[in-house]
Amino acid sequence: MKYSKRISTLEESLTIAISSLARDLKAQGKDVLSFSAGEPDFDTPKIIKDEAIRAINSGFTKYTQVSGINELLVAISNKLKSENNLDYEPNEIIVSNGAKHSLFNVFAALVDSGDEVIIPSPYWVTYPELVRYFGGKSIFIETDEDNDFKINASQLRAAITPKTKILVLTSPSNPTGMVYSKDELLSLYEVLKDTDIIVVSDEIYERLVYDNISFTSTGSINNDMLNRTITINGLSKAVAMTGWRMGYAASKDKTLIKMLNNLQSQSTSNINSITQKASIFGLNGDAKMDIDNFISAFNIRRDLAYKLINDIKLLNVRLPQGAFYLFINIKKINPDSMAFCKDLLEKEGVALVPGVAFGMDGYVRFSFACSEEQIKAGITRIDRYIANL
Ligand code: PMP
Ligand code: GLU
Repeated sequence: MKYSKRISTLEESLTIAISSLARDLKAQGKDVLSFSAGEPDFDTPKIIKDEAIRAINSGFTKYTQVSGINELLVAISNKLKSENNLDYEPNEIIVSNGAKHSLFNVFAALVDSGDEVIIPSPYWVTYPELVRYFGGKSIFIETDEDNDFKINASQLRAAITPKTKILVLTSPSNPTGMVYSKDELLSLYEVLKDTDIIVVSDEIYERLVYDNISFTSTGSINNDMLNRTITINGLSKAVAMTGWRMGYAASKDKTLIKMLNNLQSQSTSNINSITQKASIFGLNGDAKMDIDNFISAFNIRRDLAYKLINDIKLLNVRLPQGAFYLFINIKKINPDSMAFCKDLLEKEGVALVPGVAFGMDGYVRFSFACSEEQIKAGITRIDRYIANL
């Protein structure tokens, strides 16, 4: 069969590939501890599940509006206003099958052949693949650990060319957990303000921030930033709803929302009607207690994993301010992160994601979205692996 050129260059998501490999090894009876998936181990809050059951029993099982039912769009609009200081009307929002699908649609709507998309590195695996899929070119800005893996205004200025179309920002970051402060966003804005660059702001981890860090939504810093930003968010991470597939994109550009609607009407149509009803309870404050409990548990796990990893002499890691990942520096052991991960999986049955998957070798990603017992057991094995080298 002759496949399209477009599909032939697309690679499988490495984060998903490694999580599946760990799952397969476990199913074969191997003793594997996986820290590879970017997925909370918690169950979805009961109030959300109950609402889904109610929706099924009441026959809410038909097609809906492509962009989402009005009640859901209103709940998102209210959430963005009250929690994120972002002023989006319901008709400036479209719901898709997870934030990944929102991003796919947004890149489809914006990227033409030859367009440049600036992506700070390390980055979440999916962005460069989507850019390439739509014929664009990723321009990576390398960050470093000493600057908390964040870009600054002069790096941004140096990366801009007449072909630059989009800047992607992910805060809190996957894989580093770092969060851009309001001042840092304002300094990036100083560079953007004289351009027509669009910002795609992936805020999927925004509720998961620790130590009273205050999260600032990119579009909230001023009106011009709001107008040029497409805000991406969803319920997978903070509400433990990865399998429900609910994400959304918001933009002040109603024509863009219409175009995303057109694309979605020709591909997947509305997301699952049951998920839509249930998601309202993940947005309107009804699940607040559950979400607060998740955040407290992540905070404890983060502190534990951070301490145990830094206790290992040859490893070091920065304290993440958000999300649920440690991005661990392994350069003193083996700067080849893929070789490190393969060897660790073979010898100790511990699955981590190599930094090279996120565009930065010399590091590995450890997800602490699992129990304290698993964190302790996994890091004991990592310690033993290093001691035996
Ligand atoms: N953005 C980032 C940074 C992520 O880590 C993820 C996790 N898969 C997503 C988007 C997509 O999440 P989902 O499709 O489950 O909403
Ligand atoms: N975003 C998660 C991760 O980085 C889930 C896997 C994926 O969607 O790629 O592990």
